[in-house]
Formats: sequence, C-alpha cells, structure tokens
Amino acid sequence: MSAKRDYYQVLGIQKGASVSEIKKAYRKLAIKHHPDKNPDDESAAERFREATEAYEVLKDEKKRSQYDQFGHAPEGGGYGGGYGGGGFNVDLNDALESFLRNFGMGGAGGGFGDMFGGGGRGAQQRGRDLQITLKISLADAARGVTKKLKVNKQVVCGTCHGDGAAPGSKPVTCSQCNGMGRVRQVRQSLLGQMMTEVACPKCQGQGRTVSNPCGNCRGSGTVRGEELLEVKVPAGVSTGNYMEMQGKGDHGVQGAASGHLRVVFDVEENEIFVRHGDDLLIDVPVSPVDLMLGTKVEVPTLAGKVALKIPAGTQSHKVFRMRGKGITHVNRPGTGDQLVRVLAWTPDKLDKNVQAKLEEVREDLAKRIPAPGRHLYD
Ligand SMILES: [Zn+2]
Ligand SMILES: [Zn+2]
Repeated sequence: MSAKRDYYQVLGIQKGASVSEIKKAYRKLAIKHHPDKNPDDESAAERFREATEAYEVLKDEKKRSQYDQFGHAPEGGGYGGGYGGGGFNVDLNDALESFLRNFGMGGAGGGFGDMFGGGGRGAQQRGRDLQITLKISLADAARGVTKKLKVNKQVVCGTCHGDGAAPGSKPVTCSQCNGMGRVRQVRQSLLGQMMTEVACPKCQGQGRTVSNPCGNCRGSGTVRGEELLEVKVPAGVSTGNYMEMQGKGDHGVQGAASGHLRVVFDVEENEIFVRHGDDLLIDVPVSPVDLMLGTKVEVPTLAGKVALKIPAGTQSHKVFRMRGKGITHVNRPGTGDQLVRVLAWTPDKLDKNVQAKLEEVREDLAKRIPAPGRHLYD
C-alpha cells in the first residue's frame, strides 16, 4: 500500500472547510466512485474507500483535530503519535456501510435513488425540490408581509388523481418485490460476496405496476402546472434568507411524497433608507442656519413622517437615534432603530441680500471657530 494522501486533498477541500462543505464534497465523490456505479473498476472502489475514510475522520470534530495535529499514523504503525495511535483505516465494506449509514438506503423511501439523479434506482422517488426567489420591498421586510406566489411545478394529474392508472383501472402491487420497491442482490466484488439492495426492475422501485397507464400523464400521475401559494414572510428578513415549505415542491410520481419548496427572499434596495443590520440610516440635509438656531424637521420613516427636534448649536453630521423605527429583529424580540444624520447643506449661489447679511455674521463666527483637529474622529 502506498502512503496515504492528505484527507483534505482527497476530498478536494480547504483545511478550514465547514462540516457541510466536507459532507458535500464527500457525497459528490462517493456518488461518482460508488462501486455500484463503477462495477469491476478497482480504482473507483479505491477512490470511494479513500474518500469515505477521509470523511469519517474529518466529519468528527475530535478525530479531525487529532488528525490536524498529528497527521496520518506512520505506515506500519508501532510508535504512536500519529492520528489515533494505531492509525485509522477503512476497508471497502466499512466504506459501503458508512456511506449507507450517512446517506440512507437502509429504511423505506430511497435517498439513494435520488442521489444518482433518478433513473429509478431507488424506491418511490420523492418529487423534486424547487427553489424560487421572492422579491419584497424593504418596508415589507421590516414588518413582515403575506405574499401570493405562483409556482410552476409538477402537480397531481387531474385525470388519474395521481395514481397513474387510466380511468377504470387501478395500479396493482408489484409481484416481484411485493410492493417493497427493492430487491436484494448478491454480487461478487473485489472483497468477495456483497449483498446489495437495488430498485425492483419490474416496477422501477414504485412497488406497484400500472397495466393501463393514464393517457394524460403517461402513467406518472403528475403533469406540468402551477400552484398559487400564500407565503407568510416573517418580519426582519434579509436578502438570502429563505423559508422551506415542506411538500410544496414537485408532486411525487405515482403518489410518492412531494418535494420541498425553498423560497429565497430578495429584499429590494430602498431609495431613501440604507439598511444596516436592523437599523435604518438616513441623511437629512438642513441649512447651517437651522443648525445654529435649532429647528424641527420632518423625517420620513417606514411608518410615515416623524418630527425631529434639532437643538440650537447642533454640528453637521450629528446622528440622532429614533428608537424602534428600524427593522423588526427576525429571531428575537424588539426592533432596530432609525439613525438620522443631519448634514449642513450649503447653497452654491446666494441672493445679494443674503450675502450681505452673512458677511456680517462671518467675522463674529470666525473668532469662535475651534482649531482644526480630530473633531469627528474622537
Ligand atoms: Zn394521469
Ligand atoms: Zn417491484
């Protein structure tokens, strides 16, 4: 046996990869190199075994940190120090078992068939999962909203009501698998006899057969259509947040479970507010005279205009906090604030009269202005 390859390299991931990245990388490799998919290809079996071993170690926090620290055990073992002292080895049978344990072929309803992208490998294929993007305004995101959504998807066939059998006929339990959808198979592999379960060839894993298929859906029980859904968008969502609607994806073939629908929120930019977490930012230009003398301004908020008092002697760029006028926190009670920054606004042209009056104040102000320094930075 040659020296082991680095586990991260085996899975093609970075050293700091997250558990979900590890799982994703492994799943991809395992599906590609799975011995069932590459019969009699020893190098594929080895890649599969190797990927599984890497996965078994890296998905486990403790084993992973040991591996990160010590690397592989020295070949031939003996003097400890390497990962787990005696090393960590997985043979092909362990690998196959681990794969099934992690990605489920054991129980009813086949995750396995789904993984190979259909083709009737598993039993009872669940309908496809769908994803849709829902655009919402900032105001709706801030307070929550109920939206109607039209989803194009596979819906139940109206002619056969989903069982795939032509009107007047009925699907019957498959005689080869007795409705289980799977049959056991003994195969010779490089490690001797191996028991595998495969989708029943007679019913393609459905567990039932239809002798007289429905003409409208060609026996699948589903047709292309659309469904109108109501989505309750919770208050406080951001772009990229999503909601999973169980069973709202494609309708399953011949009565299999439906897929899920993921609704991803896309919160539109707002023309006057900048969102900063759950706070809203807005700039309000006011005249320098208003800053000097004090005034009251009307400030827009998501809930309409609100009066804000600006005291006499306010500096430009001062930020006023309007509590609770921001965005509702999505996962905890409370609401963000609206931060109002006042900016001294200067006209680029002055009326002659105004100019004359300002000349009078100029000298008075010049005497009192503070020295240059770190005013806004401290
Ligand atoms: Zn039909
Ligand atoms: Zn069958």
